[in-house]
Amino acid sequence: MPELPELEVVREVLQRRVVGQTITAVEVIPPGGAVVVRDLTQAGFAAALAGATIAAVVRRGKYLVFTLQAAITPLFLVLNPKLSGRLQLAGPADKRKARTWAIFKLSNGGQLRYYDQKQMGQLYLTHGLATVPDYAGLGPEPFDLSLEEFCERLKPHRGEIKGVLTRGEFVAGIGNAYADEILWEARLHPFRKRTQLTQEEIERLYQAMRSTLLASIDKVRQEMQEHIELKPRDFMAVHMKTGEPCPRCGTPISLVGANQRITNFCRKCQPGGLIKGM
Ligand SMILES: [Zn+2]
Repeated sequence: MPELPELEVVREVLQRRVVGQTITAVEVIPPGGAVVVRDLTQAGFAAALAGATIAAVVRRGKYLVFTLQAAITPLFLVLNPKLSGRLQLAGPADKRKARTWAIFKLSNGGQLRYYDQKQMGQLYLTHGLATVPDYAGLGPEPFDLSLEEFCERLKPHRGEIKGVLTRGEFVAGIGNAYADEILWEARLHPFRKRTQLTQEEIERLYQAMRSTLLASIDKVRQEMQEHIELKPRDFMAVHMKTGEPCPRCGTPISLVGANQRITNFCRKCQPGGLIKGM
């Protein structure tokens, strides 16, 4: 699942490559298109978008929001890529990737394409962002939070710290992978309860959240370049590194869980916690 660092770099590329372009036509490809496209305007997805100009692209949490200039404004195209949704910049002659469900043809001759292996992502077209499911309840962006606000917002959450970090209402944009990275940087066991953390540990977590996300944006930017369909993660310290040496102490990285909800951590650098499933 793309998280804040990947989507932030995608946003940077789209800002350069598609802002100012007019959408000349939209092709929604059945059967997946009918699943991923959600027209909340009742005007018809392709009909409402044709002729619209992309005025801005912003990221909010794990959403990308395209602000459009169209006959009826405001108009927003909102992408929630979930597990496997990807955008791709392509030329008209470029071969379509499997499971491409929507193609936005641009006035410069290029195309913005959406493909999604699992068809779990969503593309919403709406006149108001409040109508997009789960969007209005998003917590603040990590870089907009002061340490004081972070501590204050943590108070009502009493459970395992990894679960708190990945809760979009607490702070937006952090998912399973980057929570592992942040907790490793902070040297905190992912399953420790928030109520067990000292003030010093909470401050370490806050600093690690910011430093890890910032450094990751830089690494993603270097590796992704213009290929917004990529999800570079080889540089990560612990996530998906089960059994590999911890970059700090050399201890083999531990794994808990399965499938999309795995947790990786270093049992030496991140001591304590009741370990589930071990
Ligand atoms: Zn370690």
